Amino acid sequence: MPIESAREMLLKATDGKYAIGAFNVTNFIQMEAVIAAAVRRKSPLIIQCSVSPAKFLNPKVMVAAYRTFADDADIPICLHLDHCEEVDFCKECADIGFTNIMIDASKHSFEENINRTKFISTYCHTKGGISVEGELGTVSGVEDQVKVAENEAALCDPEQALEFIERTEIDLFAPAIGTAHGIYATKFPKIDFARLKKISETVNGTGANIPLVIHGGTGLQPEVVKKLVSLGGAKFNVSTDLKYALINTTRKYLSEHPDEYNPGKIDKAVRMAIMERIDYWIDLLGSAGKA
Ligand SMILES: [Zn+2]
Repeated sequence: MPIESAREMLLKATDGKYAIGAFNVTNFIQMEAVIAAAVRRKSPLIIQCSVSPAKFLNPKVMVAAYRTFADDADIPICLHLDHCEEVDFCKECADIGFTNIMIDASKHSFEENINRTKFISTYCHTKGGISVEGELGTVSGVEDQVKVAENEAALCDPEQALEFIERTEIDLFAPAIGTAHGIYATKFPKIDFARLKKISETVNGTGANIPLVIHGGTGLQPEVVKKLVSLGGAKFNVSTDLKYALINTTRKYLSEHPDEYNPGKIDKAVRMAIMERIDYWIDLLGSAGKA
């Protein structure tokens, strides 16, 4: 299927009150499994990769694999670079075929965040068709190389959100609202729903204008996920959940089959476990049948 812009895909989700899973992958077994699950459920899909695995796997190889899978799939699929703090690597990935780029300058001052984000936004838009995600406020936890302590996490100011979006001309906006990367320390983390509602009304009150991105999906209770989607979350990032599925499945398989030396059997078990998690998320986000 021709590659659809993430902005268009996510504006439809915003309008339709559902969200699209943006699933982090660290290898090609995961990439194939995520795509196979989304195809089975006819769900639009965003595959994403943070900076370290993208560099380790070789971004050009990632793009080649992604394009091969996407060409054969009958759903729209985007390839997104997640939380990139390096301007040069954002440009490199845009040059070689990533369809979305997240420039994460959220640790900088408001003005510096705008400068860096605007630079990448202009670069990607000049190349054509590449959606850019920016973040305001900071999401706590660990995402790849980006570490933010919970007490350092600053939530997004709704008044600044509009100015940030207008001045950077980004396509997707990630406001920090209290969700966190990694595993939540408590079953009921403090999520600022009122803040998300206010941001949503401020930026999309007169109709879907810019899709909102929720980071830190892993570990949120199903009713919390549904509420975040109902309040305007359109791109829903899930990373840790899939890492746990991969590692826990591998551990279990090896402990149950200590004499097995066929790696393909482990790959198949991992593939099945990843597909089950994607099924769970697609159901929760309401994206089945929306491709
Ligand atoms: Zn994130």
